[in-house]
Amino acid sequence: MAKLYYDKDADPSLIKGRKVAVLGYGSQGHAHAQNLADSGIDVRVGLREGSSSKEKAQEAGLRVLSIHDAADEADLIMVLLPDTEQPDVYARDIESTLNEGDALFFAHGFNIHFGQIKPPPYVDVAMVAPKSPGHLVRRTYEQGGGVPSLVAVAQDHSGKARDLAISYAHALGATRAGVLDTTFSEETETDLFGEQAVLCGGVTGLMQAGFDTLVEAGYQPESAYFECLHEMKLIVDLIYEEGIKGMRYSVSDTAEYGDMTRGPKVVDDHVRQTMREILGDIRSGKFAEEWIAENKAGRPNFNELRRKAAEAPIEKVGEELRAMMPFISSGHKGVRDVSGG
Ligand code: NAD
Ligand code: MG
Repeated sequence: MAKLYYDKDADPSLIKGRKVAVLGYGSQGHAHAQNLADSGIDVRVGLREGSSSKEKAQEAGLRVLSIHDAADEADLIMVLLPDTEQPDVYARDIESTLNEGDALFFAHGFNIHFGQIKPPPYVDVAMVAPKSPGHLVRRTYEQGGGVPSLVAVAQDHSGKARDLAISYAHALGATRAGVLDTTFSEETETDLFGEQAVLCGGVTGLMQAGFDTLVEAGYQPESAYFECLHEMKLIVDLIYEEGIKGMRYSVSDTAEYGDMTRGPKVVDDHVRQTMREILGDIRSGKFAEEWIAENKAGRPNFNELRRKAAEAPIEKVGEELRAMMPFISSGHKGVRDVSGG
């Protein structure tokens, strides 16, 4: 049976007794730092030299130090830097600051699970991973709610690492929504699988294929865009709120019949087999190895794929149509504002 923690399961005093450093002020960093500060936690933000986020963090009333000094001062370090940057920053600015009994926290398991960061045995290593983009971690907290999160422990030196992680999740607002107990391997492997096969890769692949099929058959790209991309959110919102059954209740019987008879033909045994192969490459470490090598080489393939994807017809027509609906893109701008500094 899955184990879920809620407010009543947390001991808020554990995190209150800590000096917390939040490293990075991007999507997750700005939300963790502000939520923790609002929960009365002693938090400082660690940023690299010349970071454009420095002013934003200070405007939010946060104390900003260098990454090294923040880590040095703290006895709980939450690493919210891009996963690809973490190993270098860890070696340069964090490792030497770790004292016996310190806690090293992550919001994703990649670097610990795939051995890119190897902390010393005398610290706790744990994860608090919101299952949500950072701007929602902040917004739902401000509204009195929270986002579901995962906690896991990779190394339990103190014997209290899990309780400490739950206490951190409480200060973040996550125990209001539910915190699922997991492991670094489960979080890392399911997270990579989800983003590759379903959430990012799966969804965009499906939209792209649907759009191309309609355009190829001679329909207007604008029709194809509304049908295969724009409406996705409306349908997904219904599923998010009421489950698949609730969505099917809201659409017409014709749509429901088409859904139940044609859906399994689109995502057929071949697709399921491909999903198993994708999962296999994640579990064997093959994907991680490929991505680490790609980064070491300066991302030639990644940059080329990104450039090509930006030129796709679905993006061109989408840009024009969304320009007429400026009201739908405010959330996205909010995310961008806090990233990349
Ligand atoms: P981000 O890219 O939004 O922000 C990273 C921060 O680190 C920024 O402040 C950036 O300026 C800074 N930074 C970048 N390179 C740096 C370097 N070399 N040295 C020092 N600082 C540097 O990252 P994010 O999306 O918030 O991700 C942080 C962690 O949270 C990752 O482990 C990620 O997997 C995890 N996570 C992210 C999300 C999400 O929705 N974005 C959700 C769950 C977990
Ligand atoms: Mg994720």
